[in-house]
Amino acid sequence: MEDNKVIFSGMRPTGRLHLGNYLGALQNWVGLQDEYSCIYAAVDVHALTTITSGDEVHEIRPNIREMLIDWLAAGLDPQRSILFVQSHVPEVLTLSALLSMVTPLGWLMRVPTFKDRVRQMSETEDSVSYGLVGYPVLQTADIILYKATAVPVGEDQVPHLELAREIVRRFNNTFGDTFPEPQVKLTEVPSIVGLDGQHKMSKSLDNHIELASDPEETSKRVLTAFTDPQRMRRTDPGRPSVCNVYSLHKVFDPANLDAIYEECTTATRGCVDCKRQLADGINDYLAEMRERRRELEERPDYVTEVLLDGAKRAKVIAKATIDEVTEKMGLGIPPLN
Ligand code: SF4
Repeated sequence: MEDNKVIFSGMRPTGRLHLGNYLGALQNWVGLQDEYSCIYAAVDVHALTTITSGDEVHEIRPNIREMLIDWLAAGLDPQRSILFVQSHVPEVLTLSALLSMVTPLGWLMRVPTFKDRVRQMSETEDSVSYGLVGYPVLQTADIILYKATAVPVGEDQVPHLELAREIVRRFNNTFGDTFPEPQVKLTEVPSIVGLDGQHKMSKSLDNHIELASDPEETSKRVLTAFTDPQRMRRTDPGRPSVCNVYSLHKVFDPANLDAIYEECTTATRGCVDCKRQLADGINDYLAEMRERRRELEERPDYVTEVLLDGAKRAKVIAKATIDEVTEKMGLGIPPLN
């Protein structure tokens, strides 16, 4: 492992993770542990940027715990990586406030995901919260508080990282070289389409398969998957290129891909059998992870210990960064002559 290569990434605490979360991010996070010093956060403050009622906050803590169990079951190793909760290291909020002094509002308003979020929340640009507008600044603070050199992101997050790099450049130009410019590390599987065959897999759209589901529930959900819309009858040849079940076979049954293609296009395979085979593939793939999850569920104290230890280690780095930043920005008590 190269000591000067530090990865930071965060996930909003949405509870139990699904296949899209795993294939789009978590699997990659696990692999990165072999190459980098990794710091992974459950970004609970970010979860507050889109809440619409006070009741929603009661879900944050249980969601962190469920997500952590999935992280550990998937192979994140607290001996090698720092796993922690964002708000346990409040220095990030200090840094975010300080970075906001060098971040023009125009930069934030131009971020494409800002406009998407405003649309999703049926808000107008005038009524969205300051926290939502400033989301990329807090995200930048998350990364550079730990002097991360690279961030694993999907395509949709690339503009946020470019903004983080611009904020870093402006800070360094104004106050002196302090932060490395974090580099994009694109994930190989950026987006997994959900069971509806149309949208990215997502819990809110209920088109997902949870990692923690049991095999029966997984099979039941896979049987609802949308396939080639033009294949009305069993005797119609299918088009694997437009079928989401086929795209999932690429991940879970790569050895049989040619046979599936051939049987689909010659109508010698039915969609129900094809989905059953996919469900078996998913269940085999997740079996060990699910077993580890069951063991972790019986050790709630262990999950708490992992998070407290992670916060302790993250805080050491964070404090050193804040000391350096406040010194460069001329804050604090003046030295005695
Ligand atoms: S047979 Fe399989 S790959 Fe072909 S359309 Fe049906 S589900 Fe899709």
